[in-house]
Amino acid sequence: MAMSPPFLSRGSRGNRVGRRVGAMLTTSLVVLSLAAMLLTWRQPAMVGRTAALASDSEGFRQAHFLVGREQLLLRAAVTGLDAEWYAAQLRALRPMVLDSLARLAESAGGERRRDLVDLLDAERLLQASTEALFAILDRADLTAAAALVEGRGPLMESIAGRLSVAQRLHTAEYQAQLAMAARQARLLRYGMVLVFLVGLAVLAVTGWLRRTDRRAIERMAAEDALTGLPNRTAFQARAEVAIGAAGDGPRRPIVLVVDLDGFKEVNDSLGHYIGDKLLVEVGARLRACVRGDADTVARIGGDEFAVLLVDAEARIGEETADRLCQALVSPFVIDGMPLDVEASIGIATAAPGQDVGTLVRQATAAMYVSKEHHLAHSRYDPNQAGIAARLTLVGSIRRALDDDELVLHYQPKVAVGTGELIGAEALARWQHPTRGLLGPAEFIPVLERTSLVHRFTQHVLTMALAQARAWLDGGHRIPVAVNVSTRCLLDQHFPEVVAGCLLAAGVPGELLWIEITENTVMADPERAIDGLRRIRALGVSTAIDDFGTGYSSMAYLRILPMDEIKIDRSFVKGLGTDERNRVLVKSTVELGHNLGLTVIAEGVEDGAALQALRDLGCDGAQGYFLCRPLSIDDFDAWLSNRAVPV
Ligand code: C2E
Ligand code: CA
Ligand code: CA
Repeated sequence: MAMSPPFLSRGSRGNRVGRRVGAMLTTSLVVLSLAAMLLTWRQPAMVGRTAALASDSEGFRQAHFLVGREQLLLRAAVTGLDAEWYAAQLRALRPMVLDSLARLAESAGGERRRDLVDLLDAERLLQASTEALFAILDRADLTAAAALVEGRGPLMESIAGRLSVAQRLHTAEYQAQLAMAARQARLLRYGMVLVFLVGLAVLAVTGWLRRTDRRAIERMAAEDALTGLPNRTAFQARAEVAIGAAGDGPRRPIVLVVDLDGFKEVNDSLGHYIGDKLLVEVGARLRACVRGDADTVARIGGDEFAVLLVDAEARIGEETADRLCQALVSPFVIDGMPLDVEASIGIATAAPGQDVGTLVRQATAAMYVSKEHHLAHSRYDPNQAGIAARLTLVGSIRRALDDDELVLHYQPKVAVGTGELIGAEALARWQHPTRGLLGPAEFIPVLERTSLVHRFTQHVLTMALAQARAWLDGGHRIPVAVNVSTRCLLDQHFPEVVAGCLLAAGVPGELLWIEITENTVMADPERAIDGLRRIRALGVSTAIDDFGTGYSSMAYLRILPMDEIKIDRSFVKGLGTDERNRVLVKSTVELGHNLGLTVIAEGVEDGAALQALRDLGCDGAQGYFLCRPLSIDDFDAWLSNRAVPV
């Protein structure tokens, strides 16, 4: 499958961006957490170092005090008063001084350690002098003692000075350490807040991604990946809801199962790529035939689609089926290649509380009946009575064609101004062996849903042209008009069929008219226009039948290869008195004439209508007032009895 499923493109850009953001956030979270962890890891060392520096500060203060006191005692001892007490004090103090300086030296690092070791050495030197001092004091030689202490003065100053420098340096280091600890604590605090916020963001993004992924999965589970239509599961769910909502009210949900004829051949001969594209296009056309939000078109199998109509009257099933068929009439152009697709449709209406599986099975069974018997659609019938009747009818029509039971009646077309015969419309009748003469309403609607219509139209053309030839041979130039249904006009080979019939009958194209309805044209305007052009190229004239009952676009009307408009009989009825119809006919006549077309009125049932048509400038008329459709014998009799020459 070369096509990218539609669901992949939808919302996936948002997901991609989301995933990228999620990955970035997660990476940031990991990096931030690592950094915070590292900071926290280093925290005990930082605390230890700060505590050690704090304790050193205390050590410095103590050393300062002890050194100061020692020096004070030294200086006081030489005064001669109470020398023994001073000596005792000094003796007790000396190891404390040494100890405190040694501790400072031990905990200091690098350069300062060396300074402190030097300081310690200087103190030891000083303390060595103290031993000499004690001996001098013992001799009570105060002069010598004073001289000794005096001589040690610079050493003492140096000790006190170096201790102060060391203390200052230590204080600076301690303060720097405190600042660093504060910075680190701040960093950790902000880092934690950031980790928390990023963590929240990661949670939010992953939550959102999980939700969108879940939605995508749900969509995938409910959607057909190729066409983007709901799949069988989603269809069944919707049908269940519709059946529940309908309760036992009069408007029942309707299910149509649509199976494409000949899809397998397309797939096998042209490959899956073309097959897939065709399915996508078919899906889109079917989708366009139902009410956007209320009804559902789903793909429930390979080339099988299903339609759910809710809140619908029963007849809507058949109307929708007709629309679906009509939508598939014009060929699908896939990669420049025109492909014809026809569908077989089965219709089933849900009974109150019916289970969906059974309902779809019923519609599928009806679809198989359609397929088997070349019907466009059929409705599930528990007794199969309706289907049987229709199938019998299709079979009988086929036989009627073989057995020549179809006959044509002819209704004259007359010029309004002169009463001159300007043509005859061929109207099909079925001379049924048991039911008598049947009008077209009895068999044409069924016939038009089968491919038998092609054979039927060719048969009518052959008979009508044979009659035109017979009249020509009898000296009457009477153009015959043949009604052509949508399926035939949109068949690419139809102009060749017409050419073949003309040739076989030996009738010039000018003696044949083709009547088509507005809806036939609008089913596929381009194709219809192409067909009409090719038919007109044979010299054949064309008319829009039942004008006013269908919907035709002015834009197309202007460019249609047409020669005549036939105003529908509903507008001609009561024309003598009905003012509204009079206005409608008047404007249609003007419109036709402005487009260069002749205008004929159908269903002229009284003289007043004919007079009104004359007043309004209508070109031709057809109707019971002028003449009913007649068998050939009756027509010939009518012809020879006419006062107006042909
Ligand atoms: P149509 O083409 O509009 O044919 C005119 C119908 O109006 C004919 O009905 C005719 O009998 C009827 N009619 C003529 N004058 C009057 C009138 O003054 N008042 C009223 N109320 N009706 C009048 P018919 O023969 O029953 O044909 C019905 C339709 O069947 C035709 O409508 C045409 O659409 C279709 N049909 C007939 N023969 C063929 C055929 O050979 N091929 C196709 N595809 N359709 C045909
Ligand atoms: Ca007609
Ligand atoms: Ca008509």
